[in-house]
Amino acid sequence: MAGLIPEGFIDELLNRVDIVEVINRRVPLKKAGKDYQACCPFHEEKTPSFNVVPQKQFFHCFGCGESGDAISFISKFHNLDFPEAVETLARDAGMEIPQRQESPAQAQRSAERNTLLECLERAKRYFQDQLRQHPQRRRAADWCKLRGISGAIASEFELGYAPPGWDNLATRFGTDEKARSILLKAGLAVAREQQRQGDSGKPSMYDRFRDRVVFPIRDSRGRTVGFGGRVLDDSKPKYLNSPETPVFQKGRELYGLYEARKSKIGKLLLVEGYMDVIALAQAGIRNAVATLGTATSSAQIQRMFRFAPEIVFCFDGDNAGRRAAWRALEVTLPMLEDGKSARFLFLPEGEDPDSAVRQFGADKFRERVDAAQPLEDFFFDHFRADVDVGTIEGKAALSSKAMPLIRTLREGVYRELMIERLAEIAGVDRKTLLAPITAKRDSGKPPWEQQAPDFDAPPFLRESRRDRSGRSARRAGPRKPQDPALVAIKRLLREPRFALAIAEDEDLSPLSQEGDDAAKLLLELVEIVRQNPNIDNIPLLEQCSRSAVSDLPRAITAENIEPSKREKLQEEFIEIIAELLAKCSKKLANKRRRDQLRARTAAKTSEGGTSASPQDESLPGGDSPE
Ligand SMILES: [Zn+2]
Repeated sequence: MAGLIPEGFIDELLNRVDIVEVINRRVPLKKAGKDYQACCPFHEEKTPSFNVVPQKQFFHCFGCGESGDAISFISKFHNLDFPEAVETLARDAGMEIPQRQESPAQAQRSAERNTLLECLERAKRYFQDQLRQHPQRRRAADWCKLRGISGAIASEFELGYAPPGWDNLATRFGTDEKARSILLKAGLAVAREQQRQGDSGKPSMYDRFRDRVVFPIRDSRGRTVGFGGRVLDDSKPKYLNSPETPVFQKGRELYGLYEARKSKIGKLLLVEGYMDVIALAQAGIRNAVATLGTATSSAQIQRMFRFAPEIVFCFDGDNAGRRAAWRALEVTLPMLEDGKSARFLFLPEGEDPDSAVRQFGADKFRERVDAAQPLEDFFFDHFRADVDVGTIEGKAALSSKAMPLIRTLREGVYRELMIERLAEIAGVDRKTLLAPITAKRDSGKPPWEQQAPDFDAPPFLRESRRDRSGRSARRAGPRKPQDPALVAIKRLLREPRFALAIAEDEDLSPLSQEGDDAAKLLLELVEIVRQNPNIDNIPLLEQCSRSAVSDLPRAITAENIEPSKREKLQEEFIEIIAELLAKCSKKLANKRRRDQLRARTAAKTSEGGTSASPQDESLPGGDSPE
C-alpha cells in the first residue's frame, strides 16, 4: 500500500517513463506518422481511434474521449486508484517511491491492513490445499462436479474447501493471542460468547467457515479480501460471507471483477451470486461479476463503468427481482453518460444465471444477454405498468414521476433522448418538462399546467410580459413569464373571493378594451364574483368556456389553496390587477390620443370625424366622470 506520494516524485516518474512504452506493453501500438495508434482499450471498436502522442506524452481516444498521461492510462487500464497507479508505474520503471512520513495512525492502519491481507492469503491457500488433500475432500469435489465446475475453473477462481470442525484455522493459525486477534479481525473466526469462554480448555473462538466450499473474494488487484462459503447439503445458511472488515466492504467489492477484467469484452454482466459467476465462466461467458448479497451500490456501478462501457443487469423475473432491478436502475442513472449504457435481462421466474446457462447452454444465454432490455425501455415500461398513459391524469403522473429521475442523468445526448421520449409518451412539449422544479412544488400541478400560454398577445401585452419577466418568473415559476391577466384569472378560478379584495371604487373598465380578450374575461369574472360573493368557481369556469381566450388553464377545479399561502396569493392578485390596470390605462390613453390625432387629420382632409366616434363609444372612458 502506497502511503502519501511526494509531489516531486510524480513529475520525476512521468519524466522517466515513456508513455509509448508503457501503453505498448499493454496494448500493442502501431506507428502512424509521428504518433502511435491502436484500437481503444476503453471502448469497443474495430478501427483504431486511440492515439498516443510521444511528443506530449499523452494519449487520446477520438472514439470515447478518454485521454491523459501515463499515470491515468495505468489507472484506467488496470482499474486502480491514483496511488496504486503511481505505484504500478514506478514498479514498471524500476523506481522506488520515497515514503513520506505517515502519521502514526496511518502507519498503524496500513500495517493492520497488510497483516489482514496476509492472513487472508494464507487462509485461502489453506482452503485450496484442503480441496486437494483433506480426507473428506471428496464431498466438496463431488459437489463441484455436480455443478459442472471443472478443475481449471476451480483453480482459476481459487476455490477451496473449509473442512468440518470448529477450530481448523484457529489451531493452525491462531498460535498466540495476536494471531488469534488477527483471525477475528479478518473475519475468519468468530469469538465465543463470554460465558462459554471460561470453559476449561476451549479456545476463545471458532472457525467461521466449516464444511463449506469457499470462494475467495478478490479485490480488483487480485488480493483476497474475504470469502464466501456454500454448504454441501441443505443446511442453513446456504451461503455465508465474510463480515465487513478493514479490508472488505461488501457494498464496494464485486465478486469476479478481477477475473472479468481480463476478458475485455466491453460489457459486464451483473449477477447475484458466486455460483452465477462461476457457472457462466464455466460456460465460456467470462464477463460476469456478482454483488455480495447486498443491493447494487453506486460504488459498484462506478467500478464497473470504469472498465466497461456497458452493464447488463441480470435479475430473476419475479417481483423481488424486478424491485432489485429498479433499485439498480435508480443507482445507475446518475452515472450514465454518453458512451455508457445499461441493460436489463430478466430470467424466467425462479431461474438464476447458474441454472439458466446450464439448462439452455451458453449460446442461448448469450442471445438473451444480447437481447436484454435497454435501460430506457425498462424505465418507461415500469411507469407504464403503473399509470394509464391513455388518460390526461396518467400522462401527468408519468411525467411527474419520471422527470425527477431523468433529472439525475448527466447532461448529454442520452439525457436529451430520455426527455424527448418522455415528452412523446406524455404528449408534452420538452420545454415544459424542463420547467424549473420550483414551479411544480409551488403549485403541485402537472408541468404543462404551468406553461405560459404561447398566444399571440397584442403588442402592449408583449411589452408588459417583458417588463414583468423577473417577477412573474419568481412568482409563478415557469421560465416564460405569463400574461398577467391569465395569471390573475388562474388565481381567481382557484379562489373566487380574491375578487372581493379589489377595492370597490377601483375602476376596472380599462380592462375591457379591445384586443385583449384575457383582460376582458378577467373583468367579467370579477364582476360575476362582485355580484355573487359566495359563488364557487364552476360558474366562473363556464364563463371561461364561453370566452374567446383559448389558452385558459385546465384542471383548475382540482386545486385547493393552502390556507397559509392564501394571504400572499391574494396580495399578489391585487398587485397583478393594479399593474394590469396601469398598463391598460396607459395604453388606452395613448390609443385615445392617437385616435384624436387621426380624427383631426381626417377632419382636415375630408368631411370626416366619424371614424373615431364608434370606437370612443365602445370604450368606457377612463377620463370621463361616471
Ligand atoms: Zn476509446
